[in-house]
Order: sequence, then C-alpha cells, then structure tokens
Amino acid sequence: MNRFTAPWVVACLVAGYACQAPPPDEAVEPEALSPMQARLAKYTTVRLTTDVASLSESERAMIPHLVRAAQAMEGAYWQQAYGDRDELMARLEDEDARRFAMINYGPWDRLANNEPFVPDAEPKPAGANFYPPDMPKEELDGVELESLYTMVRRDDDGKLTAIPYSVFFEEAYGEAAEALRAAAELSEDPGLKRYLELRADALLSDDYRASDMAWMDMKDNSLDIIIGPIENYEDQLFGFKAANESFVLVKDQEWSARLSRYAALLPELQKTIPVDDVYKQETPGLDSDLNAYDVVFYAGDANAGSKAIAVNLPNDEEVQLQKGTRRLQLKNAMRAKFDKILLPIVNVLIADEQRSLVNFDSFFSNVMFHEVAHGLGIKNTVNGRGRVRAALQERASALEEAKADVLGLFMIAELASQGELDDESLDDNYVTFLASIFRSVRFGAASAHGRANLMQLNFLEEKGAFSYDAAAQTYKVDLETMGEAVDELAGVILKFQGEGNYDGLGEFMATYQVVGDTLQQQLDRLSDERIPVDVVFEQGTDVLGL
Ligand code: ZN
Repeated sequence: MNRFTAPWVVACLVAGYACQAPPPDEAVEPEALSPMQARLAKYTTVRLTTDVASLSESERAMIPHLVRAAQAMEGAYWQQAYGDRDELMARLEDEDARRFAMINYGPWDRLANNEPFVPDAEPKPAGANFYPPDMPKEELDGVELESLYTMVRRDDDGKLTAIPYSVFFEEAYGEAAEALRAAAELSEDPGLKRYLELRADALLSDDYRASDMAWMDMKDNSLDIIIGPIENYEDQLFGFKAANESFVLVKDQEWSARLSRYAALLPELQKTIPVDDVYKQETPGLDSDLNAYDVVFYAGDANAGSKAIAVNLPNDEEVQLQKGTRRLQLKNAMRAKFDKILLPIVNVLIADEQRSLVNFDSFFSNVMFHEVAHGLGIKNTVNGRGRVRAALQERASALEEAKADVLGLFMIAELASQGELDDESLDDNYVTFLASIFRSVRFGAASAHGRANLMQLNFLEEKGAFSYDAAAQTYKVDLETMGEAVDELAGVILKFQGEGNYDGLGEFMATYQVVGDTLQQQLDRLSDERIPVDVVFEQGTDVLGL
C-alpha cells in the first residue's frame, strides 16, 4: 500500500525547499497516479540554459548549426535502439505513453531494467536493433560484422551482412555533416574549425580517429560538440556496436581554471593511495585535461533514460595512448540533479543537523574526483591473471565504479589535509557523498552504478561510517570514522582488482550488494514522496533565446 503525499509537499520537495505545511483543512488527498504517470514521475523536467551573452557573435551564430547536427542523431539512434519511431508513435494512443516512449527511445523502461511498458511490446533484445532479433549469438563471426560502426542485417539469402553506418544512416549523417561544416565556416577558432570539418568527414567515412585526435588537440575553444557513434552500452549482446549521440557544449572558463589546478596534483596522489605498493606500480594517464561545461543539447544515446553528468572520452585506445583523454564535467546538468533530486533526498533521509553540510561545490568535487579516480589505481593484475577487466568479467564494472567513488573521496581527503581545498570542508564532502549514495542506489541492481553504491552503503555502514536513527528515520555520518572506513574499502577493492580475484569478489558482492529491510523502507519513502530518479530536458535554440 502506497503512502500518498500531499501535493504541496511534492512541489516544495521537488523545488528543494524546506516544506511548510498549509493549514490542515487544506491538505487534500492527491489523485492516485496511473501506472504510466507513475513511470513518468521518475523524471523531472529541467531547462538547459547557459550564459550565451558571454559568447562571441560568431559563436552564438554557430550554436543553431551544432544543435541541428545533434538533432540528426535522434532518428539515427532510434534506429539502433528500437527501429521505426513513427510506427511506434502511431500505435500509442495514450499521450503519457508517447511521452515516455520518447524519453526511453522505445517501449522499454530504462529505469526499470528495460521492462516493456506497452502491452504488446516484446522484451527488449539484448542486441537492441543492431542485429537481427532472431540471430543466435554464435552466428556472429567476422571483422565487419563485429565492427563498432556497422549495423548487422540479413541479406536476401538470409546470410548476415554488415552495413556501414555511413551507408545505413546516410541521410542523418549527411545532414549532420552539412551542419557541422556550416558551423566550421563560422568558427574563429582554428582548432575547433579543424575538428568540426574532420568530424563531418568521419561521419561520411566511418573513420573517426583523425577527428578524435583533432578533438584532443583543441584547447582554447569555448564551444564544443561530441557527436556520432560513441558508447557501446546499448549493445548488451556483445558490447561491440557504438550508439549515435550528441552533446552540444559551452565551456565554463572560470570553473575550468579551477579544475586545472587539481589536475596538476594527480601524479602525487597516485602515490598516496591506501594500499600496498605492489598494487600501485602503474603510472596512470595523467596527461588528460579536465574542464567544466554547460550542456545546451543532449541527443540520442546521451539523452536516453538516465543522463550523464560527466563524460570521459575518446574511447579509441590508440588516441588515448597518444593524446590522453578529456574529462568533461557537465555543470548545469549536475546542478539540476543536485537541486531537483539530491536536495529533496537530503531533506528526507539525512539527519537534521547535517543537512546544511550538503552543498553543490561538494557534489561537484565528488563527481569530478570520481571521474579522475577511474584513471588511478591498477589496470593489470599483479599475479599474471591479465587485465583486471578480463579477470573480473561481469563483476568488473560495478567494482570499478565503487573504486572511483571511494578513491575519489580519498583524494579529496588528501587534498584537504594538504590545505588544497580552500572553500570546502571535508565534512561537507562526506555528508554529500552519503546523500549521493542514496541517489544512485535508486538506479537499481540493473545498473553498475546502482550495484556499486549498494556495496559501499552496506560496507561503510558496517564500519560505522554512518548510522541510522530509527526514531527520526534519518542517517547521520560519523565524521570521525568516515575517512578510515573509506580508506579500508578502497584497500579492499584495489586488492580484488590487483589479484583479479573473481571468486572472492563474488562472495564480497553477495554479502554487501543486498537491500536490507530498513534501506528498502527508506527507498520506498523517497518514491512515496515522488522524488524523481532522473531528469529530462527542455532544450534547444528557443530555450537559449537564439
Ligand atoms: Zn564512473
């Protein structure tokens, strides 16, 4: 039985304000949500804006072209994730169902383990629409069929055939390339101009390396765009195929300057990781750059289901080797999740006296150091079991996410002890971290992030890093113990990785990846309060006033 919450509570919680009750006789029972409305309520809408006045006239003129290029990825992504968007939309009569299908790019709920939400929908194929739905896994064999940049179909004889993206998505890619060239034409930044031109070429040739190199080479641009087939999470069958997406970005110069200071401290931080020397012999990629951006448009894979608030690219290991990677902190999207999701969670689950310690700067630092921490630690086992990722198989991702969380927090503590964090206090980072764990646990066990956070929550609670007050139904960080518990967990994780200990990790996960009764009750409270799980965007040139 759900406990319903008065609408005023929902409104003020969503806005992130402390709630004040209206007189009792005005408190009305809200209407129950239909099942589809309940699904939609997991998302809250945010307008994506930035300070366009700080851009030059030519930059402002470029944005509509970049947005047009990004929009071309929408239809191309639908083809990969589902198939014919218009056919699906025509079948859906309910307005809420149509809207939910647009958010999910298909008839499956991405925040509920891809459960079908349209009565006649088949379960989602693991290979989405990259492969024929009837294809047995063993049938796929061959370089072209396994390529990042081909769609796999059957020819007239029923044989598998690989169709290059540049052919399959000829129309969408052609439109995107044309828009990128139009933006390049207006660009006053030679690095950006070159990247946009090379990216247009890449879409038409399926060869992205030169454009990735050019992307890493440009440093002074205020505008940026990530576009094309990039991540392979949508292909759950093999993880081979890259999904179409785009982010249109405006660099935040002030916050980027702040970040470059931290980037310089990384080499020293690797040496201080709380684990035996044998597990930290590798020299991490430290030539990376780290910048803050406002996103002004999300499209395709980037816009499906839960939204990224930080990105680390490119994925091409050859480019990574030569040029490093770029870590992008998506500041306005992060701010939206902080205001609309994290603060409302804090107001329900965090002890009264610690609520004021949760702030955006700490949230930003925690996310930033999470990204940085992926680059620290260890990639190869120390006992001849090969790459960590290969040794730990399907358990690797969740452990790596947990590593990034705790090692990130460890680094913040190190910097604090060196006096490098001027305006923040470590206590703020700790309490914000705990609140954020509750936020991420809600992504569920289908997500590596969800599992990683569950593991941390149970381990840290067992070590006394925080405690639950049953009377108040809130959690409180033990500020004295938290640091030690985080170090201990970091040590445990790095050992599993260093030893490639698949079986030991299995036992660890069975112990710590559980949702206890208390936690489940508290998560139910968040749903009952209708606190959203993620965001959807109102976005585009109109929203920007361009
Ligand atoms: Zn991560």
